[in-house]
Amino acid sequence: MNASTPQTLLVVGAGISGVTAALEAAEAGQEVILVESEASVGGRVIRNHHYFPKMCPPTCGMEINIQRLEHNPRVKVMTSTRVTQATRTDSGWQVRLTQAARTINERCTACGECSKVCKATVPDPHNANMNEVSAVRLPHPAAWPAHFILDRDACSEEDLRAIVSACKYNAVDLDATEKEDTVAVSAVIIATGWHPYPVENLDQFGAGKIADVIANVQMERLAAESGPTAGKILRPSNGEAPKSVAFVQCAGSRDVNHLPYCSGICCLASLKQAIYVKEQLPECEVTMYYIDRRAPGRNEDLLTRVAGMEGVKLTKGKVGKVEAESDGSLSLRLEDVEAGRLLTASADLVVLATGMVPHLKDGKLPFELKLDDDGFGLDDPDAKIFIAGVSRRPEDVASSVRDATGAAAKAMVASLSQQRSA
Ligand SMILES: Cc1cc2nc3c(=O)[nH]c(=O)nc-3n(C[C@H](O)[C@H](O)[C@H](O)COP(=O)(O)OP(=O)(O)OC[C@H]3O[C@@H](n4cnc5c(N)ncnc54)[C@H](O)[C@@H]3O)c2cc1C
Repeated sequence: MNASTPQTLLVVGAGISGVTAALEAAEAGQEVILVESEASVGGRVIRNHHYFPKMCPPTCGMEINIQRLEHNPRVKVMTSTRVTQATRTDSGWQVRLTQAARTINERCTACGECSKVCKATVPDPHNANMNEVSAVRLPHPAAWPAHFILDRDACSEEDLRAIVSACKYNAVDLDATEKEDTVAVSAVIIATGWHPYPVENLDQFGAGKIADVIANVQMERLAAESGPTAGKILRPSNGEAPKSVAFVQCAGSRDVNHLPYCSGICCLASLKQAIYVKEQLPECEVTMYYIDRRAPGRNEDLLTRVAGMEGVKLTKGKVGKVEAESDGSLSLRLEDVEAGRLLTASADLVVLATGMVPHLKDGKLPFELKLDDDGFGLDDPDAKIFIAGVSRRPEDVASSVRDATGAAAKAMVASLSQQRSA
């Protein structure tokens, strides 16, 4: 067993919530192990072009957190790692951590010589699979730790040989195997976040079949300089700038057949994306079709700003169907609620505002977790398990950060009470 102290906290998931919880606890004196299944930290936030309410790039917030992580010896960050076993003990939990085989290890300097010799490509997960990327690469430009990853199965033997010999730092180890470690921890914070609701389930909107029907997470990448079009908002079907964009709100949300709940951020995400479109394509007509416009608290300023923009229309109406027309445009069938009539509208590009599904719903963590009816986690103080961020409920970054700080405090109190009673 590894030499973790009995007061060590385990944080699972290194998105904004997990990173915040780990840092807040560590800066208050707690030893922390932060486990992330991906090769780098940052979670979903890092895939946004800008984020509301300040409309700044997400890297600015993450850079500060990464500096805090780099300078805090109390946080041990373990990437490409999962919790594969968990056993309740008198003092908390004993957990087994399994780190995937690191075919490119920490000696990697991200010099990029290996990418130059590798011919294999794969769909780029960072860009919602909208472009191909080298099978050996940095996960994304702001990745931390800044080590390359290798999609070994996509490579030929020739590619692999070339990658090994291109590396001057002896960082490629094709014989690397999984590593396991068992640690004792006093409390656990779960911050495994969310994945987008699969658009393939939304047959009525043609998603996955009609090229110009995209999800909101794809729009984030289309607008980003490091995205598949170098930041140009273009129709996937023909690479041309759209003359009209329609945002379909509650695409699969507040719908008993899909996600019964409101994800809370989709209206704000579409309002933000309307700004991306208007800033880049001032002549483009933007329409947002909504059931309710939900922009709580100070985020109402964003709603007021976008509603007042020329060429932006907010129409109360639930879209029932999207179809491709023979001229390449898209037709949307909807009920215009305020006018009390059925309507057919047209657009060049349709963005589906899909909601957030908690990873906890997949049931892949080896803890016995308490979940609500929608699959979001509930704190279990008796078991010393605390939930942070979107694992707990759908919310924005600011709320996730507040939530994670609270989870850190609760987990520290649980650890301290354990120490006192020991
Ligand atoms: C289209 C869209 C746009 C958005 N734009 C904004 C915006 O502009 N402003 C804003 O405030 N909010 C925005 N949001 C919401 C924002 O993305 C969330 O608030 C944020 O991602 C919550 O962070 P998190 O850390 O809780 O979860 P995540 O970002 O999902 O991070 C979870 C982390 O846990 C890791 N993980 C998952 N499972 C495991 C496991 N088993 N073991 C270890 N690690 C695991 C994941 O790899 C990930 O790194 C947007 C959401 C959407 C859908």
